[in-house]
Amino acid sequence: MIQERNMEIFTEADHYLSRDHHYFSFSAAHPPALVVSPGDLIHVQTWDCYRGAITNSENALSTIPDSEINPATGPIFITGAEPGDTLLVELIDIRTGPRGVARTYPDNGQLHHLIEKQYARFFDVEDGVVTMNEKVSFPASPMLGVIGVAPESGEISTLPAGKHGGNLDNNMNGIGSTIYLPIKHEGALLSMGDMHASMGDGEICGTGIEIAGDVLIRVNLLKAKATEYPVTETASAWITHGVAVEDIPAALQIACEEAAGLLVSQWGFTIEDAFIFLSVQGNLGLAQAVHPSTGTVIAKMTVPKISACPTPFNIA
Ligand code: CA
Ligand code: ZN
Repeated sequence: MIQERNMEIFTEADHYLSRDHHYFSFSAAHPPALVVSPGDLIHVQTWDCYRGAITNSENALSTIPDSEINPATGPIFITGAEPGDTLLVELIDIRTGPRGVARTYPDNGQLHHLIEKQYARFFDVEDGVVTMNEKVSFPASPMLGVIGVAPESGEISTLPAGKHGGNLDNNMNGIGSTIYLPIKHEGALLSMGDMHASMGDGEICGTGIEIAGDVLIRVNLLKAKATEYPVTETASAWITHGVAVEDIPAALQIACEEAAGLLVSQWGFTIEDAFIFLSVQGNLGLAQAVHPSTGTVIAKMTVPKISACPTPFNIA
């Protein structure tokens, strides 16, 4: 079924990419679905992480193979993007659909041992408000769980995170944020999906409010500058990531090393002062830790924007 473009939103976009164009992996072997230039505005339509398979109480707990989780719309080829550059993806707007779902998985997540059976909960999203049940409602905070570029080598499923981005599940990857992705291949080959209407730090049951929607992005390039892992910039902070397989201390350490690396290389901090500054002003946390699932855990170090380090990269 061809997915129609919602013509009522993002009319300023230079390009549109339908969710019909998606893969369940990141790879330089995937042919581009769209070619754009730096500065272009792109309307990207995304599936929810189940590609629309979970719709009602009848199918709410149906098993979906890992190979069909997290369809990522793309890839988008950015003209002029070369290995060693950084791709800037500005999330100008994110519009969710009207209904999302969160589910538990057996033997997965921080409280799995306390529940007797798998469970799913549908949420309505209307006018920026999420309704869970008669008692519980809260503001929507839409974000993208999956965003990334073609990895340096091979094919990486959209389930884990890594240096290429992927399933970063950082709830700060929302409206107004810019995500810096280290480019390894000509054109960068950007893809995204796994929209959430809301997701807490840690994503402890294994899902956010999984939902389909539309994203308006602007892409740009930072030539010949890059980090090892993606970086997210918000209005008030920049946030480095660290990823490790089932190893929270290792992921935490990488996120700290990435932040210290930028403070030293871009802003002239000594490593000792970076260490101290991150201890007194940085906030170390977990983006995703669905313990004890056998996957990547993602740490984040949030660095406040002050005059000594106002952006991740010093481009003045
Ligand atoms: Ca995710
Ligand atoms: Zn998700």
